[in-house]
Amino acid sequence: MKELLPDWKATSLEERLELCRELVEDTEFPTVNRWKEQGGRVLGHFQVYFPEEIAHAAGLLPVKVRGSQLETRRAESHFGSYLCSILKTSLEAALSSKLPLDFFVSHPICDAARNLAAIWGRNVSYPCQVLYLPQNARSAAAPEYLREEYLRLAQDLGGVDAAALRESIAVYNRGRELLEELYSLKRESPWLVPVDEAYVLVALAGLIGRPEYNRFLESTLELIKERPARKTDKVRVVWEGGFCEQPPLDMLRAVARSCYVVDDDLLIGLRFILGPVPLDGDPWHNLARAYVEQSSYSPVQRDALRPKEAMLLKRLRGCGAEAAILAAAKMCEPGLDEQVAYSKALDEEGVAYFVSEFEERMTSFDQVQIQLETFVENLLFD
Ligand code: SF4
Repeated sequence: MKELLPDWKATSLEERLELCRELVEDTEFPTVNRWKEQGGRVLGHFQVYFPEEIAHAAGLLPVKVRGSQLETRRAESHFGSYLCSILKTSLEAALSSKLPLDFFVSHPICDAARNLAAIWGRNVSYPCQVLYLPQNARSAAAPEYLREEYLRLAQDLGGVDAAALRESIAVYNRGRELLEELYSLKRESPWLVPVDEAYVLVALAGLIGRPEYNRFLESTLELIKERPARKTDKVRVVWEGGFCEQPPLDMLRAVARSCYVVDDDLLIGLRFILGPVPLDGDPWHNLARAYVEQSSYSPVQRDALRPKEAMLLKRLRGCGAEAAILAAAKMCEPGLDEQVAYSKALDEEGVAYFVSEFEERMTSFDQVQIQLETFVENLLFD
């Protein structure tokens, strides 16, 4: 397969960031269509986590289905009006044929998304299915159960042998290392890479093949490190609430004007496994075990030993943040529920926080920017 990105090797950092921005916001999904034109097959997976290694090993392009800026002309009639936007704009991308898929996978992450694969499947001609991640990650049977679930998925994709999966895991391990390097830059020198720029760099991973992505990110990280940017007087914050529906890029840009977002859960599914997945032994077991034992957290995954409030406090301390932005997508029940639990935990710990709601197709951010600036001023001059 030819590369999906236009030739970027001789381009500047600014040009690369612009390229990422355009691709991430493009409702025509040019990289995915390019892959299809070359005869490739595409697997779309809905939020939050999906083991892309399996699709890659089966020869498909895994694409993260994370909503879009499309008008929901066709999809609106398939859902109640009280549901979040990402379900509708994701389906719209498929029904309008702008996002050409050969396979779609979703997970029962919430009551609203529970029926997504069934609704999707009734309206397209390709297979749609649900991947059931373990509900109780602390059960001793969870890794074995998940291994079987992965094998079932691989069978439906046409079969994947262990050697191919091992190779794929190695590619994704390199990707994990590079994404961690990007986040480490955000923590150590956040003036080098504002949240909106880091966001588009991460989101690109859901639109092109991982080997190509790794080459792009590896080279781009070097340019970021050489950037002549200077530290300014901004508050270090954690953004929490970007695990499923994504905030508009302009909202992140507005946040970046007054804050350094030193850690976040934006597109957390692409960074869900922490550290390398072992390559020795059974790769199916290793991948399943990594999900259970070496993963991040989100409001739609339950883990009795790692309450999400404690995980947020760990995230805040790990990156030296002074405050948190507790965001939630409109109509997102898990996100709004967790906002309450997070606020309570932060109150108890005396950590300042800013509460906000967003929708992926919002266009005005003046209000949120003014409120956030007031919040930051209070912190700086308190
Ligand atoms: S945004 Fe919230 S309600 Fe909507 S699909 Fe995602 S988790 Fe479910």
